[in-house]
Amino acid sequence: MKLKDIYSKSKINPVISLEVFPPKDGLDSLDAELEILKKYNPALISVTSTSSATNAVQSEIVQNIKNKMHLTVMPHLTCVRNCRQDVEDYIKILQNNSVDCILALRGDYPTDGTQVCCEFKYANELVEFINSHSDLSIGVAGYPEGHIEAESILSDINNLKNKLSAGGEVIYTQLFFDNSKFFRYIELLEKSGISVPVAAGIMPVISYKQITRMINLANISVPKNFAEKIEAYKDDKKSMVEFGIEFAVNQCQSLIACGVDGLHFYTLNKAYSTSKILDSII
Ligand code: FAD
Repeated sequence: MKLKDIYSKSKINPVISLEVFPPKDGLDSLDAELEILKKYNPALISVTSTSSATNAVQSEIVQNIKNKMHLTVMPHLTCVRNCRQDVEDYIKILQNNSVDCILALRGDYPTDGTQVCCEFKYANELVEFINSHSDLSIGVAGYPEGHIEAESILSDINNLKNKLSAGGEVIYTQLFFDNSKFFRYIELLEKSGISVPVAAGIMPVISYKQITRMINLANISVPKNFAEKIEAYKDDKKSMVEFGIEFAVNQCQSLIACGVDGLHFYTLNKAYSTSKILDSII
């Protein structure tokens, strides 16, 4: 099914999508987590592209999710880790395996000097290539607070428009914790004439180290109470996880009340928090 149809025809609103990453400890661990999350009928499982997993490994995960778990799957693909030929080969594999969707990204440049491919400079070029070489339905990334390298949120939205005119159908956002930033973003998208569905990126807080790293890397705003709580529960994992669930439930409820098209959960390959959140909001 095409992404635009998933969002326009869904009987469950908002549409729920779940993001997982290729596990380092074997595929069985991911299967176990997804078995738990399957009961919430996610419309889509997206699988990140990481430097530790080759396209072949990612493809094995994608096929496992599609054929063994019978879930719709959307692999991520990045410009930095793929030259033109790699993309051509990979999208052929996806199409031969009846995968319908892909999330096209630029990716981040490695800081350790690892060489990257520069044949596609920005994600819009990758979107255009995939669109002209396949029938895949393409999702793209959006940044409610602007991408960290962008001159301004408006220039970032202009660049986002290029991804959509190249064939992007749905926007999946960076995680955020301040809903007012997301609502402002939606207003700006509408003013720019963007009308495709937007799935809001939700990350349940699981660990202090991980969340502070993400916040600093992507320059994400945090509400005062959020900052206080994560400091308070820095060394108390159980309370941190429970706070993360409570915060995300409130965040999702407010987004749902405002008619958000989709909720895209960064599951971190841990079913517990996401399943607790879904128990409260579905
Ligand atoms: P682009 O859309 O190319 O934008 C990158 C920057 O360039 C932005 O600042 C943009 O404004 C600017 N720009 C775009 N076009 C132009 C132009 N023509 N001229 C000048 N500037 C321009 N990373 C991974 O490595 N693997 C993943 O699986 C992955 N999954 C992700 C999933 C989601 C939902 C999100 C939000 C991000 C994900 N990322 C992933 C991170 C992403 O790769 C990085 O944020 C990356 O830095 C930007 O990717 P992009 O596709 O948004 O790039």
